[in-house]
Amino acid sequence: MNQDSHFVFDGGTLALDLLNTWRFNADQPLDLLQSPEDLIIWLTAAGLPDGADCAELSSSPPNRRILLDETLWLRRDILLIVQSLVAGELPPPYTVDALNRILTENGTSFRLDSLTIPPEGDQEEGMEGQLVLNVHEHISSVLGVLQPIALSAARIVTEVNPTRIRQCAFSNCMYWFLDTSKSGRRRWCSMSRCGNRAKVAKHYRQRITPS
Ligand SMILES: [Zn+2]
Repeated sequence: MNQDSHFVFDGGTLALDLLNTWRFNADQPLDLLQSPEDLIIWLTAAGLPDGADCAELSSSPPNRRILLDETLWLRRDILLIVQSLVAGELPPPYTVDALNRILTENGTSFRLDSLTIPPEGDQEEGMEGQLVLNVHEHISSVLGVLQPIALSAARIVTEVNPTRIRQCAFSNCMYWFLDTSKSGRRRWCSMSRCGNRAKVAKHYRQRITPS
């Protein structure tokens, strides 16, 4: 099933966008990530993976299955972390361990390369053919594909005021978002979606409730 059009990216950060793959559908919670194919569509829509090597890692059927399972575990841990922060508590240690498992997944390697200078290059940068030490970040496993999401969650823990982590105030919406507004009074996941639905509902109530 192509659920591309159902995915929303209003959370303000990847970790909350991942939580928002749960939504209400006819008053019932619906998980939009039901198959590895759903996940690949979501990852692509989110701009992940962003390297050819991770596309390769996530392309084989067993890897895609593992990737889905790992993503669902990560989503569960992010929900626990966010709920803890909103309640003014520290995230459970095992959720921190789970984030660290992904955060430390990718590696850094070094490589000596010969310097090539483009025709318009600055000669003071070095001599053509001179050896330079380059740093390469490489994705070492399927889990590495999820690192940007874990990093987003880690930044929520370390950099975000918990009072700015919100869940949409509309009764039939469970989307999470970061309130980055100046006033700090954002209530809706999206003005064009739930903001307008709330306005319509209020208008309807005023019409049927005589003052
Ligand atoms: Zn909403």
